[in-house]
Amino acid sequence: MPEQTSKSMDDIMALCKRRGFVYQASEIYGGINGFWDYGPLGAQLKKNLRDAWWRDVVMHPCAGKRGPGGNPVRIVPVDTCIIQNPKVWAASGHVAGFNDPMVDCRESKARYRADHLMCMGEKGDKSGQIYAFIDGDEESFATALKKLSKYKKRDLTNDDIDLCPLTQMSAEELKITVGPHAKEVGTLTEPRAFNLMFKTYIGATATEDDIAYLRPETAQGIFINFKNVVDTTRVRVPFGVAQTGKAFRNEVTPRNFTFRSREFEQMEIEFFCHPDEAREWYTFWRDWRMAWWESIGLKGDNLILREHDSDELAHYAKEGAGTSDIEYRFPFTSPGYGELEGVAHRTDFDLRQHQDHAKVKLEYFDQERNERYLPHVIEPSAGLDRGVLALLCEAYTPDLDRPSKVYMKFHPRMAPIKAGVFPLVKKDGMPEKAEGLRDELVKHFGHSGFIEFDEKQSIGKRYARMDEAGCPFCFTIDGDTMTDNTVTVRDRDTASQERIGIDKVVEFLRDRIG
Ligand code: ATP
Repeated sequence: MPEQTSKSMDDIMALCKRRGFVYQASEIYGGINGFWDYGPLGAQLKKNLRDAWWRDVVMHPCAGKRGPGGNPVRIVPVDTCIIQNPKVWAASGHVAGFNDPMVDCRESKARYRADHLMCMGEKGDKSGQIYAFIDGDEESFATALKKLSKYKKRDLTNDDIDLCPLTQMSAEELKITVGPHAKEVGTLTEPRAFNLMFKTYIGATATEDDIAYLRPETAQGIFINFKNVVDTTRVRVPFGVAQTGKAFRNEVTPRNFTFRSREFEQMEIEFFCHPDEAREWYTFWRDWRMAWWESIGLKGDNLILREHDSDELAHYAKEGAGTSDIEYRFPFTSPGYGELEGVAHRTDFDLRQHQDHAKVKLEYFDQERNERYLPHVIEPSAGLDRGVLALLCEAYTPDLDRPSKVYMKFHPRMAPIKAGVFPLVKKDGMPEKAEGLRDELVKHFGHSGFIEFDEKQSIGKRYARMDEAGCPFCFTIDGDTMTDNTVTVRDRDTASQERIGIDKVVEFLRDRIG
């Protein structure tokens, strides 16, 4: 059985709430579907992930790894607006094409993404009823099989059925289909396009001419500034532009905790290169991005790199242009995987679209090649919230031998709290000594939020709290500290304890958390 199935999403969500990682947005008003707020630990975890990305992409590109040809990778940052001229989204294809086909059930009132529904019928039977289920969802599969068996008046197994995606069904076939949550036949509507962009109005008049959109991706802000960046900096192709920021999609069925939200944050790179070098850069970025997710703790079978089949390629990708997903096995996708980051060779699609729509030349003059061309683009596009969710799921480690019954095994670089400092009891000079150590650690490791100082409750309860927060090390000041200047170090992952000199704590932590 895959490891992830032993982790329950309900338990993970309960811990997220209990410890202040993630709350439902507008909770005191009953919530709002598809929106989530981060609490103190979650906000810090998210910042650590964003900071690690920014450092390894912008400040120290590819953490020093050389690109094809042995040259250093050049990346510059931008920070562009959430609302842009609506023509941007017409040019990018989002106004016309950013649609998920959707299906409504007239009986149950449920709404599904058409590409998420599969249908089953008995093998070889063209006239009987067809039963829809949600692809990848075992429960709805089992229900559909049961309903089909009941209709056929005998027990059918997987071998007796034919499967077909709903998107390939004719209107006639839809009429004999039973929805996943329906009893009647033919209650599913035909798939309809549903624009995923949130609309708003600019200015006071709110007429059709004032319509604007909240950006559904951060990428376009980079493309429309390509010429500005080239004209105002010294960057030369090949180079990349990076940005992080909020994106909004009016998802038809937000679900799976923060995985599919309506407001989320992206971390995107658009890497511009000569068309002849695009293949090499694509491979470079795909492999480095995969290695990066591994470096922050998503190792092993739960992380995979999946190259797209040609029939999955997006509207801009042409034959031979690679696209791959870096995917994580979340408890709710297990044994399958869910996308964390897409790495795509977008060709010159976006620059060409903007060049045509804006009627502004976006070609680049390459002095070395003495050639004018529209660069090709490699886009590694990651979801920050999905990254945080993967870190939370990966870290969640049940352990019935501990008082907390669970601990969060974050990579030390990601851990929201890096160390705990605890006086064993609140007397005999221990609190003062512990405060001294806390101040020393704050001086060396940045702000005080990274270091938890706690003198309440029993030491076991304090360790349990830190286990759930995913704090890698706790230092306890006890009676012996007062005589021999040693402290107890408790390791989160092994729960084992050792004694080290109080003057060695900074070094100890630096070696382990960087
Ligand atoms: P999906 O197929 O899951 O809808 P996508 O292929 O539409 O995703 P992209 O447009 O490639 O996603 O967006 C890049 C990244 O942004 C994704 O890899 C994902 O991490 C993140 N992302 C996209 N949609 C959402 C969402 N609704 N909620 C949270 N993160 C998202």
